[in-house]
Amino acid sequence: MLMSPPKIELPRYIDAPKLIQREQQLVGIVPRNSLSRLTSSVESVLDDIWVELSFARDLERNRVVRGRLQFQVRRICQRCLLPVDQKLEAEFAWGLVWTEAQSSNLPKALDPVMQEGDALNLYQVLEDETLLNLPAMAYHLEACVDRDKFSSGDDGACTSESQQNPFRVLEQLKASSNKL
Ligand SMILES: [Zn+2]
Repeated sequence: MLMSPPKIELPRYIDAPKLIQREQQLVGIVPRNSLSRLTSSVESVLDDIWVELSFARDLERNRVVRGRLQFQVRRICQRCLLPVDQKLEAEFAWGLVWTEAQSSNLPKALDPVMQEGDALNLYQVLEDETLLNLPAMAYHLEACVDRDKFSSGDDGACTSESQQNPFRVLEQLKASSNKL
C-alpha cells in the first residue's frame, strides 16, 4: 500500500463542478477531530483520514469523483474485549447529481451524491464512506484468545469462531497465563 504522508488539509467545502471541469486531483487529509459521527462509532480515530480524489467527466458526460481513503480506528475486539486497531481502506466513485432524475439516470457503478448548488460538503460525504466501510464487528486478526487451537499465520483465526463459550475462553486464558 503506497502511502506518502501529505499533511495538506482538504477544504471542508469544494466547488466540485469546477474541479471536474479542470480534471483536477486532490490529495490530502481530513482532520480526525472533524468527523464526529465516525468518532462516536469507534473507541477512537487514531490518525487523520488520508484521501485521494480525482475529478472528471466520464464518457457519458456524468460528473464523476473517484477516490480512495485510508483511516485507522481503535475498536473493541468482540472476542477478547480488548482494544484492536483497524487500518481500513475504501475506494469509491461518486456521480454528482442535483436532481432525483439525474440520480436515477446514473450508471450503477456510480454512487449518487446529491448536491445543492455548487458547494459540496466534502467532509460529510467522506465521512459517509468511512462509516460504510467500517466492518460491523471488530476482531483481532491473530488468535487473541484461543492460542493453542490455531496454527500461526491464519488471518481468519479470530473471526472463524465467534460463538465461543465464555467460560471455556476464561479457562483457556487462565491456562495460558499459567504457562507464562
Ligand atoms: Zn481479540
